[in-house]
Amino acid sequence: MAKILILEDEPSIAELEKDYLELSEFTVEVETDGEKGLHRALTEEFDLFLLDLMLPGIDGFEICKRIREVKNTPILMVSAKKDDIDKIRGLGLGADDYMTKPFSPSELVARVKAHLARYESLTNAAKMKKNDIVEIRGLKIDRSSRRVFLNGEEKNLTTKEFEVLLFLAEHPNRVYTKEELFREVWDMDAIGDSATVTVHIKKVREKIELDKSNPQFIETLWGVGYRFKV
Ligand code: CA
Repeated sequence: MAKILILEDEPSIAELEKDYLELSEFTVEVETDGEKGLHRALTEEFDLFLLDLMLPGIDGFEICKRIREVKNTPILMVSAKKDDIDKIRGLGLGADDYMTKPFSPSELVARVKAHLARYESLTNAAKMKKNDIVEIRGLKIDRSSRRVFLNGEEKNLTTKEFEVLLFLAEHPNRVYTKEELFREVWDMDAIGDSATVTVHIKKVREKIELDKSNPQFIETLWGVGYRFKV
């Protein structure tokens, strides 16, 4: 479960934030001192920082800048003054989001979840790019030999079937419309249209999904498109 560090010197606010995030099953730690908080942010592993702007010792501007020099972990900045938000944006410190106090607990939780999901899909994509083999829940895609295995058994995909599958797997959790997939995978002058994509996805599923009515890898989002689930 994701671990969040709250840097907030107002104990009542910190407690409230902690309670709501814990209700959403996050692991939460609180630091009320800027210096200590920055030290922990730099030396320990967290998945997200909830950072108050005005802190004793060292302020949120500086902390944000220092974290960004070494980490890409999402930073959600919190301030009591609306003017500060413009200042944070203007300084280009690399914060991912900003909230003005007071904010609703549901807004806090929604934003935290959104940033965690985005960061997770980015890091997964980066990890996958490094390897020649993409492996997810028994599905193995070998880029260099262009072979696909499901639970050790080789599946024979055509060139385009392989390319659609690989493209989606390389961009996990992102939704693509049929038109986007057609543009990405087929040549510009290819004969066909988005219906071609539908046909290929169907063929790929027949080969890699154990239960085609309940796909585990390529998910359909009705009226939107497809996404590779990880
Ligand atoms: Ca404060």
